[in-house]
Amino acid sequence: MSNVQVAVVTGSNKGIGFAIVRALCKQFPGDVYLTARDPGRGQEAVAKLQEEGLHALFHQLDIDDLQSIRALRDFLKQKYGGLNVLVNNAGIAFKVHDTTPFAVQAEVTLKTNFFGTRNVCTELLPLVKPYGEVVNVSSMVSSSALGGCSRELQEKFRSNTITEDELVDLMTKFVEDTKKSVHEKEGWPNTAYGVSKIGVTVLSRIQARMLNEKRKGDHILLNACCPGWVRTDMAGPKATKSPDEGAETPVYLALLPSDADGPHGQFLSNKTVRTW
Ligand code: NAP
Repeated sequence: MSNVQVAVVTGSNKGIGFAIVRALCKQFPGDVYLTARDPGRGQEAVAKLQEEGLHALFHQLDIDDLQSIRALRDFLKQKYGGLNVLVNNAGIAFKVHDTTPFAVQAEVTLKTNFFGTRNVCTELLPLVKPYGEVVNVSSMVSSSALGGCSRELQEKFRSNTITEDELVDLMTKFVEDTKKSVHEKEGWPNTAYGVSKIGVTVLSRIQARMLNEKRKGDHILLNACCPGWVRTDMAGPKATKSPDEGAETPVYLALLPSDADGPHGQFLSNKTVRTW
């Protein structure tokens, strides 16, 4: 088994994830895994970094596919005995003018952004080694969507005692409510992406709390962040930040020094803790 440190970035064949891998290749003292659901796109991205003189390794990972997540888990366990840095970056968003029915958008968006990310965490968090870092890429849209929730939902999402099961039930309820066209009546905002990212931010707060309770001595730091408005296929060419600039906050959180005792369980943008 290798003693080398290892970092894994989900959804990193393009966009912000690719830029995170590029930065980690330059700054992380260990093996950096670029992962992609499509091996062809993943290997192409690794080759692009190679042309820049950077060496990333590749492993397939589709966060919608539990078998794929478990294959990566088993690989990391066997080759490295765990992992040191996990960046949950993979995500999707329907375009504003997409005419796909809202209930379908809700189901598909929540499936990847919330349930897929959660499945990766369920399988990989137990493998994270002491002094490791976990970064969940959320969005400022999670904050604005929270503001659009009913007072009752806001209280639940801001609660310091909400459990992961309760959060899963709420995310499931959102999808069900959209199918019955009652989501607005039930206090939800009209944004599937926003609700999925509320899920990612709240999940991060819960996971950080669980680490405090169950692995206090391990000094693992886990946070959610917004990369900013970044020029990628998701956000388009008018966005203000380059992918490398968008990678800055996730990379800052992935490389927190081992003697840092925070941030932990926070939501950050521009390397600054934001009020949730
Ligand atoms: P992007 O250019 O569309 O890239 C998204 C990446 O996620 C791609 O590599 C995509 O792979 C991958 N992905 C999607 N579904 C996946 C799955 N099931 N399994 C594994 N990988 C999957 O988007 P981006 O702008 O870089 O976004 C990266 C993250 O930042 C997302 O979580 C997004 O919500 C968040 N974010 C972005 C912005 C922004 O302004 N761009 C703002 C706030 C937050 P394929 O190539 O195979 O599709």
